[in-house]
Amino acid sequence: MVDCLARGERLKRTSTLDAIGVGPRLVAGIVDSLGHEAEVIQCEEAYKSPHILDGYEALFVSGMSTDLVSMTRVAGRWRVGPAVAGGPSFVDYGFLLRKGFDFVVWGEGETSIPSLMKALDAGEGFESVPNLIYRSKGKLRRNPGPAWTSTQRLWRFTPSINAVMSYPGWWGARVYVEVVRGCSNFYRPTLPLADGRRCIMCDICRTGDLEARLECPIGIPPGCGYCSVPAFFGPARSRPQEKVLSEIKELIGMGVRRIVLSAPDFLDYGRDWLVYPKPLTDPRSPSPNTEAIESLLKKLTGISEISNGEAYLMVENVKPNLVTEEVARILGLYLPGTPVNLGLESGHPQHHLSLGRPSRVEEVFRAVKLLKKYGLRPYVYLIHGLPGENEDVIKADMEAVKAVWRLGAEKIILYRFTPLKGTAFEGYPKPPPAVKSRARQLYLLVKRLNKAGKRRMEGKVVKAVGVAIRSDGSLISYMLPHGPVILVREYKERELLRKTFKVKIVRALSDRMVEGVLIKG
Ligand code: SF4
Repeated sequence: MVDCLARGERLKRTSTLDAIGVGPRLVAGIVDSLGHEAEVIQCEEAYKSPHILDGYEALFVSGMSTDLVSMTRVAGRWRVGPAVAGGPSFVDYGFLLRKGFDFVVWGEGETSIPSLMKALDAGEGFESVPNLIYRSKGKLRRNPGPAWTSTQRLWRFTPSINAVMSYPGWWGARVYVEVVRGCSNFYRPTLPLADGRRCIMCDICRTGDLEARLECPIGIPPGCGYCSVPAFFGPARSRPQEKVLSEIKELIGMGVRRIVLSAPDFLDYGRDWLVYPKPLTDPRSPSPNTEAIESLLKKLTGISEISNGEAYLMVENVKPNLVTEEVARILGLYLPGTPVNLGLESGHPQHHLSLGRPSRVEEVFRAVKLLKKYGLRPYVYLIHGLPGENEDVIKADMEAVKAVWRLGAEKIILYRFTPLKGTAFEGYPKPPPAVKSRARQLYLLVKRLNKAGKRRMEGKVVKAVGVAIRSDGSLISYMLPHGPVILVREYKERELLRKTFKVKIVRALSDRMVEGVLIKG
């Protein structure tokens, strides 16, 4: 299982270096549970030292659409058995099959991999593997299969624990543990699609029955226009608490220090149980299942390494409209001082709604305020270059960024819009980078604020874990529970690797990195 996620075209991760995702570990876990042996190998290693692929019988490669070059380069190093591509890149199956892959798994691995493994063993029977795409008798074949995995089947498998050790600096990395699959936002954008179709305002996806919201009469994919999660991974489905608990216990037992509860929206956790057996396709109602959320967090923070501060627990994204006073109180109680990601995406009230967002701009402001009030660290996300963007939108974005900063946002993350296949905004052009577009002033503002945020840290003493020694001898360390990378220049001793220590931040080196000095004791 070769992990090419976020490797782009250069076989190199340029961001989120400290994150270990769920997908490749999950595939390895499924394969292991079927009586085979799987190992996770990093994309760079598989490409630079292809001999490490020797001895394996099948190659699985995971990546996103932006990782196609890295994925196909790895496939080019593989000579022996079948090569299987998966992960969000499955939408580009035509390219992947042309460039060296034999099979592409569409959608969730839980549905396809068990029967694919059987067929690989037998060397035949691929036509019965659900959601498999491949060439047969010179023709492209796409086997039918469910749009997403049923709740009963979904949580049967456990991601491989040992696979974590294949990642450099794993002991200090943020290891993602899945708690929710899919997303409850089945609203659709009201902006026109690139092919000219446009919402006819039937209102089914906003006020219809939960099942009716699965389909739009004119075929607009569900969710925010730029996002593929609801279309490919279905409505939100929550993982049973005991499964989450046992996986996290094992990871921490192995030495992992940072766990991220992975979910397109953590506040969907247990909301699906409130509407079951109907699908959770409403991003606003019912309110968050605070009982389920609190019960999960109580159990997890009861793990001794977490309660005594040796290991940390964080959540990933939350929908701003679901952040209530009670939700913020619970998150603050169990996860004090941890970051929480909020999507603003557009600060222009009408543009924000027309993207298919479940929230309103003022709900983002309220969420920042509440999270800050209860001791959390809100990170706010925006996207530039979206369909419908104009000078007014950029102006509103800048005002909104200033507002969330005043309200206590700790970091602003500005993404460039990427038109993904299978989303409502497929077919729109990819915009130029922010610095070369109308978003330049927005980009500069975000950069300035983030740098100022790093400067605010100067003089603070924080905990960190040593993960690697640079060629100049300085120590790269990760802030605990999360923050910018800290470079410790004066310490060259290898024994600080894998250790936790205190560091005083002395200066901001960039908007992503700070310099620190070791504090003895
Ligand atoms: S996006 Fe589709 S389902 Fe939603 S209101 Fe418009 S036409 Fe109706």
